[in-house]
Amino acid sequence: MRRHRKIKIVATLGPASSDKATIRALWEAGADVFRLNMSHGTHETIAALHGHIRDVEAEIGRPIAILADLQGPKLRVGVFANTAVDLEEGQAFRLDLSAEPGDGTRVQLPHPEIFAALEAGTTLLVNDGKIRLRVEACGADFADCTVTVGGTISNRKGVNVPDVVLPLAALSEKDRRDLEFACRLGVDWLALSFVQRPEDVLEARELAQGRAAILSKIEKPAAVKAYDSILAVSDGIMVARGDLGVECPVQAVPPVQKRLVRGARAAAKPVIVATQMLESMIESPMPTRAEVSDVATAIYEGADAVMLSAESAAGQYPVEAVRTMNNVAIEVEGDPTYREIIEASRKVQRRTVADGIVSAAREIAETTEIRAICCFTQSGTTAALVARERPRVPILALTPLTRTARQLCLTWGAHCVIVDPQERFKGAVLAAAKAARDDGFAATSDQIVVTAGVPFNVQGTTNILRVAPCDERLITRSEA
Ligand code: PGA
Ligand code: MN
Repeated sequence: MRRHRKIKIVATLGPASSDKATIRALWEAGADVFRLNMSHGTHETIAALHGHIRDVEAEIGRPIAILADLQGPKLRVGVFANTAVDLEEGQAFRLDLSAEPGDGTRVQLPHPEIFAALEAGTTLLVNDGKIRLRVEACGADFADCTVTVGGTISNRKGVNVPDVVLPLAALSEKDRRDLEFACRLGVDWLALSFVQRPEDVLEARELAQGRAAILSKIEKPAAVKAYDSILAVSDGIMVARGDLGVECPVQAVPPVQKRLVRGARAAAKPVIVATQMLESMIESPMPTRAEVSDVATAIYEGADAVMLSAESAAGQYPVEAVRTMNNVAIEVEGDPTYREIIEASRKVQRRTVADGIVSAAREIAETTEIRAICCFTQSGTTAALVARERPRVPILALTPLTRTARQLCLTWGAHCVIVDPQERFKGAVLAAAKAARDDGFAATSDQIVVTAGVPFNVQGTTNILRVAPCDERLITRSEA
């Protein structure tokens, strides 16, 4: 079973996609990574989703990545007695500390430190900036506001306060509990919301202790400024356009997206373009032309992944949304202009033996009739370096480590296969040829490129490049 595109699809799970049959349908439609949003749902519901994904993974026999997204210091309102209320422009609305379910006059904002930082005239933005509230009066446990832009406000919607620097720690108590819980469950990636400084990432890394890879969500002006140093200590990046477009002027988002994608590509770290990609599909089976264009832009830029949020978590057409992304990806990646853009934006980096080998692997694969680049990888680094080359031919990432295979589900073009640990190069070539044949990448008469490191099972030793036949008898003869 293989995908016929390079870019990966991340689907957020939620009420519209919490049963095993839907999760399987999402995978079949093209979802490679599932995002569990720790802001919504209890540990019990998160554990149930995690269990369903692992069941689907076992049924289909392909690795799947699970990304747990930590809420971070994101402000959210509490819940409403009737899930949602409509706010009209000009009406009064109060935010307070009471856990009592909200109504048309008030709702909880469970962050005491915020009330201290507010003053009359401060603007509060709710639900990705769709609703605006102006603070008229406030005290230690309340803020009386006027609705200046109305709309529907529902349970736990996000609140941004762009004009005030909020005294908030990188990881709340809840984040620390959620992080430990997610690591024990066995998620592959942890996403950190509202990262502001590299130290925030290092703090999470310390707590995760290698149990999960760390992805930084860039959604604050401060994080955009400190991008290079944040990228250096992260394993992956998310262009979190929802909050980014609220915290920064919305027109700043496209150039920031380009810069973040290019930076992460050059660093060989996966980068996700996220939020409102197919927003209208929450309620419509068809996307708008502009949304299709937005997804296409991320693909042309060479992002590793595109993401669905409410479209797959709470919309009416979760499977159709994944299918739409899949179809756009196949179309764009088949466009000759796509190859031109990808080649033109490739930055050749030759600092290490591994850089040279992956670059040579691509050149050889693209100058001759080679069906796939098969790379043996322990930590996933070699596969990421091959992916950085953005080769035309498929990438098979072969690893004995389930965690590595799962984490690489986020990496551009990586088809991950779990193989037995190898002792000798001949065994590795046989395993690569078998994986390429079994998963439909090559026929017995084809050739593949194999990269590996000898001695085997040591990280960071990529030092062999071999053009090999896929025919077992020929491999046996040539390596004997
Ligand atoms: P969120 O992050 O969906 O957790 O808010 C993504 C974004 O802000 O774009
Ligand atoms: Mn966000």
